[in-house]
This record gives sequence, C-alpha cells and structure tokens, in this order.
Amino acid sequence: MINFKHSVEAIGVCHSPYKQKFGIPRQPGLVDAKGTIELIGDYNHPDFVEGIEQYSHLWLIFSFHENLTQGFKAKVRPPRLGGNDKMGVLATRSTFRPNGIGQSVVRLHSVNRKNGQIRINISGMDLVDSTPILDIKPYLPFSDNIQDATAGFAQQAPQQLDVHFSQAALQTLSEQTNHYEVEALISQVLSQDPRPAYKKNNEDCKIYHISLYELNISWQVVENIVIVKNITNIF
Ligand code: SAM
Repeated sequence: MINFKHSVEAIGVCHSPYKQKFGIPRQPGLVDAKGTIELIGDYNHPDFVEGIEQYSHLWLIFSFHENLTQGFKAKVRPPRLGGNDKMGVLATRSTFRPNGIGQSVVRLHSVNRKNGQIRINISGMDLVDSTPILDIKPYLPFSDNIQDATAGFAQQAPQQLDVHFSQAALQTLSEQTNHYEVEALISQVLSQDPRPAYKKNNEDCKIYHISLYELNISWQVVENIVIVKNITNIF
C-alpha cells in the first residue's frame, strides 16, 4: 500500500461570483453567495443526480486547482492565528495540502436539467469560479452534525466588521440589474475582513481590491469599519 496512487477526474465545474481567491470566505456558509455546479462529460447525465433534491445540503469534494503547482509543507500559518504561529497542515483547512483536495458543505436549491445540461444551483460555497468538482455527496445531519465537537483555535466563526459604502460605490451599484443582491454579497464578503492576517493589527488604511461577478471593488479598513471606496465594471 505504500505506493498507493489514485487518479481522479473532474465530474463538474463550480461557477461562483468569486473571480479570484482573495476575498473568498475562508469556510462555506459564512456568505450567502449563489453559484452553480455544471456536470461535465459522461457525468452530465440525469441518472447521476436522481434523488439529490431530497437533501437540503451537499458536500462538495473539489480540487484546490489554483494552488496545485505550489506544493505543500508539513507546517502552515493559519490566518486565524494571526499568520504568526505554525500548525501541522493536517490540523488546518489550508489550501496547500497533500493531494490538494478541499471539501465544503453548501446549500442545495434546485437542479436544472434543461437543454441537456445538468446544473445544480447552490449557495454558501467558498470556491473560486471554475473550481473542478471531484465528487458530490449528500450532507447527513444525523452523522455530520456533531453537537459536542470541539474545534481548537477555530471554535467560532470569525468576528465580522461593519461595511459602509461611499456615494460613488452606491451610484455604480444602483446601475446593476440585481443591485440589492450584489450589495448584500459585497457587504457579507467584506464583513469577513479578507485582509491578510498579519495586516489586521496594523491600521495601515491600505486600499485593497476584490472581484465579484464582473465588478472590481476597492475598499479599505478604517477604525475597524470597512469602507467600500469604489466599484467599477471590469468589462
Ligand atoms: N472548505 C474548504 C475546506 O475546508 O477544504 C476550503 C477551505 S479553504 C481555507 C477556503 C479558501 O480556499 C478560500 O478562501 C479561497 O481563498 C481558497 N480557494 C477556493 N477555491 C480554490 C481553488 N479552486 N484553488 C485554490 N484555492 C481555492
């Protein structure tokens, strides 16, 4: 068994509003972002999803495909520890890990079987757009929800910041067709304070950029409040 190897292939691809890794929530369920999984190749067949709508939530098993070439180390610096202390990679949810496999619980909304394409509509994912999906399994509350579980340094969800929009940002938002949804998404994403851990103690007021849908959003943190400075269309 020492040389055991197991090759896998994508069964689908996740489409999400997150166009870059920076800014994506660090776990699922923290932001109510909507996305879709498109089944591909031979897996794009209704037989594969028969019965899946009986479940409210799914486990996605996926590849951290954007990091695969960067390898992994036995010890990593989890953001929740301020980026200073190290932990064994297997004691963390680091994206740089042996085999580069991630897993996330997401909400299942519906399955669309139109025009020969299976699309599974989901929300709450923490996956960058175009992430390859390796497997999908139903979430089983009786087994997966462990009431007395302990979680070391990550026992609770991270603290959230308030988010304020400038007039200029609100103006661009008002021109978007689904602007309430986009505003709520930006607000939820930035309330997670995506700044690198080691920056959080410095009030450096640096301006950061994230991409959501086709929007480029510039923001900074001033006195623990996120200010959305500007929003521009990428195209
Ligand atoms: N819930 C999953 C897990 O525990 O395996 C992922 C946790 S990981 C800390 C979440 C982060 O992975 C996101 O904030 C994003 O920066 C990164 N990420 C998402 N999709 C990725 C991908 N396809 N390749 C590399 N990194 C990705």
